[in-house]
Amino acid sequence: MKRNRKAKILATLGPNSSSSEIIETMFTAGCDVFRLNFSHGSVETHRKNLENIRNLEKKYNHATCILADLQGPKLRVGEFKNLQEELKQGQKFILDLNSEEGDNQRVNFPHADIYDNLTPNTTLLINDGRIRLQVIEQHKEKLVTEVLNDGIISNNKGVNIPDVILPIESLTNKDKSDLQKAIEMNVDWVALSFVQQADDIIKLKKIVDGKVLIMAKIEKPSAVKNIDEIIKVADGIMIARGDLGVEMPPEKVPIVQKNIIKRCRFFGKPVVVATQMLESMISSLVPTRAEASDVANAIYDGTDAVMLSGESAVGEYPIESVSTMNNIIENVEKDTNNFNLEINNSQTNKKIDNTDAITNAAYSIAKNADAKAIITFSVSGKTTLRMARERAPVQIIGLSPNIKTARKMQIIWGVNSCYSNKDAVNTTEMVSIACGIVKNKNLVKPDDIVIITAGVPFGNAGSTNLLRIAKIIADKDLT
Ligand code: PGA
Ligand code: MN
Repeated sequence: MKRNRKAKILATLGPNSSSSEIIETMFTAGCDVFRLNFSHGSVETHRKNLENIRNLEKKYNHATCILADLQGPKLRVGEFKNLQEELKQGQKFILDLNSEEGDNQRVNFPHADIYDNLTPNTTLLINDGRIRLQVIEQHKEKLVTEVLNDGIISNNKGVNIPDVILPIESLTNKDKSDLQKAIEMNVDWVALSFVQQADDIIKLKKIVDGKVLIMAKIEKPSAVKNIDEIIKVADGIMIARGDLGVEMPPEKVPIVQKNIIKRCRFFGKPVVVATQMLESMISSLVPTRAEASDVANAIYDGTDAVMLSGESAVGEYPIESVSTMNNIIENVEKDTNNFNLEINNSQTNKKIDNTDAITNAAYSIAKNADAKAIITFSVSGKTTLRMARERAPVQIIGLSPNIKTARKMQIIWGVNSCYSNKDAVNTTEMVSIACGIVKNKNLVKPDDIVIITAGVPFGNAGSTNLLRIAKIIADKDLT
């Protein structure tokens, strides 16, 4: 399966996309990474979806990436007798630890640990900021608030408290249990919601012990403040604009988005732009012009991937949302006047190691020798990642004898990630395996020049120290 674009598409599975037929069509339409959202749905449904994706992977012989998204410490109100209530500006409304169903005077807010931090004047945003409450009295077991605007409050709505750093663990008990299930299912990436600081990621990395890669979701002002430290320790970043746009004014979000993409590219870490990209397609066959522009601009900025949430999970047009995103990306990437992602690595990275030296060289040879592909032979995926950072103009074929690496790298900009069931023992074999795979997959034609990078001795994850230029020939005799 060859995509005609560099940037990648993530799509969230949900009730409207949890059948093997829909998943298959989403995949052929362009979905590179499937997101299992553990905030919703049962573990059984996630497991079934995962099995369907793994079957597709075999059928199409195409390493496919799966991201499990953990809910994190999302705060929520409890339930109401009448399912919902209308609150009026100026009235008092109580949040408490009483587990009885709520009415238009009070509701359960089961987060005892944080009551101490919610001092008078703190603002609480309910239901994505549609209702704002201001604390006026703080007690051990209840918070008396004043309603700042008219609005509807209903069962289990989310509560955002942007101004306060909350003394809560970034991994709740539900997250810990979901994490174990996700690891057992053999997912490739795990995303953590409501990260506040680098330490949240460091703790999670200790638990997963290298079994999965970790993506930090940036959706709190404190995470924006600590962004460089978080990027350094995470394997990837998601700009989670849904909650971010509640926790900070929406007009700040585009600026934060551009800056985070820049920082991620500087550090060579993949970045995903998420939420409301094609929101109107939840109920419409075509996107708004503003949405098409939003996806396009994220691609111009050089994001690794763009993501569908509600559009593919609960919307009426999951498949059309994927193909719309695919078409927008393909078109932007053909715009040679404005789509120019070359960065000069030596300027951004003063101290370069062997891997950087090789990827820099591969990049300039690719341009000068008119190569059709750079093939990174990589056990750990590290070279593939570095190569992508160069934003090379030719296709990068990330080849790994480790299926897990092949899957994980599918999220990376410009990388066609392939699994090789044979590992090389010497350079001749490396060239033969690399050329064989790209030829079989029709990624190159006879007479094409390809560049192959690898690390010797073979079979070890380590630094890359070898670069070969090879010519694809029609039979098995390879130069
Ligand atoms: P969510 O994260 O969909 O899990 O809330 C994305 C966001 O907040 O944008
Ligand atoms: Mn979120």
